[in-house]
Amino acid sequence: MCRHLGRIGPPQTLARTLLDPEHGLLRQSYAPADMRGGGTINADGYGVGWYPQGPGDGAGPGGAGGTPVRLRSARPLWSDTSFAALAGTVRTGAVLAAVRSATVGMPVVETAAAPFTDGRWLFSHNGVVRGWPDSLAGPASALPVRDLITLDAPTDSAVLWALVRAGLRGGTDPAAVLSGICEQVEAAAPGSRLNLLLTDGTTLWATAWRHALAVRTRDHAVTVASEPTEDFPDWTRVPDRHLVVARPGRHDLYPLAGP
Ligand code: GLN
Repeated sequence: MCRHLGRIGPPQTLARTLLDPEHGLLRQSYAPADMRGGGTINADGYGVGWYPQGPGDGAGPGGAGGTPVRLRSARPLWSDTSFAALAGTVRTGAVLAAVRSATVGMPVVETAAAPFTDGRWLFSHNGVVRGWPDSLAGPASALPVRDLITLDAPTDSAVLWALVRAGLRGGTDPAAVLSGICEQVEAAAPGSRLNLLLTDGTTLWATAWRHALAVRTRDHAVTVASEPTEDFPDWTRVPDRHLVVARPGRHDLYPLAGP
């Protein structure tokens, strides 16, 4: 069940955020601690999206309003020495990254790796839609045909991203988009694991829906991750069926409607 992480705060290198922590995303790719039966390692690709710092970094954390750069691969994160070299040189104040464990029946291709992106948005799904693809046919039927024929990949996560993106394009508040999709997909596909993570470079929105999630607010930064990247006590476990809205130095938890 993939692992994902988002951080917004004072700029630091991608390596410091993703590779260096004792139980960071790199370690979570080959030795995750809380997969809950959904696979054992996250070897089926990875992706990193970050907001480039502008000259003078005047745009605020992550370069608010900027367009992210997204890099992804079908290779395991631990085997990509090129990324390790790049990660030591790229500094950013906002990043969303994921390592993937493909759900049975879904292809291992670069385009199935999160984050998915459009405009200023980055999105990741950690989990599985039960009964896919049939169970998602109903919710997906409301999408424009163009969105359906240009899906990133034939996976549950890519369809969820298309649903999220449609909501965002319609101007709905991101928190309402994510909570609405959890409820809609749960109704169509009961028992799904729907940990969603979304950012625009200034705010992180994340759901805990039948899967692990933790948040840490420290040093004017906030990090939301499937698993704490270092030992507690800095981290707070997000209770199941909750939404986190996180900005540097602050996070708030809201209960989600659930079965
Ligand atoms: N089901 C999604 C996929 O196959 C996400 C996988 C996961 O969270 N392990 O891409």
